[in-house]
Amino acid sequence: MHELSMADAIVKTVIDAAEKNDAIEVLEVTVEIGKMTLLNPEQIKFMLDVLSEDTILAGATFILEEIPIEIECGSCGYKGEIDSEGLDEYTPILICPKCEGHEISIIAGRECNVKNIKIEKSDEDAQDS
Ligand SMILES: [Zn+2]
Repeated sequence: MHELSMADAIVKTVIDAAEKNDAIEVLEVTVEIGKMTLLNPEQIKFMLDVLSEDTILAGATFILEEIPIEIECGSCGYKGEIDSEGLDEYTPILICPKCEGHEISIIAGRECNVKNIKIEKSDEDAQDS
């Protein structure tokens, strides 16, 4: 379960950050998920909701941003996004869309980061009216 361990890591990261910042509540969490990770964002989201129950994250909104795969081709110099459809979980083979070469480096799409966390701090007693 790829997604479960990822969701678990995200929840731990956010709880850690929230505690360091004296948060009393986490409002919103933005997570970047590269398509190269082959993670299913819907499943991640579902697991985040489950894992955040009974934690400071309960009730937080999770925003998942998918990052397209970008490559740079060593043969023809093509640089840009490539189609991630048909990527196999076990043998992800990437081919340059221009020259069909295999000498490519991935410049984006491997991300799986917590990008942004919105929290409610305990030392803020300001009341909106
Ligand atoms: Zn190429």
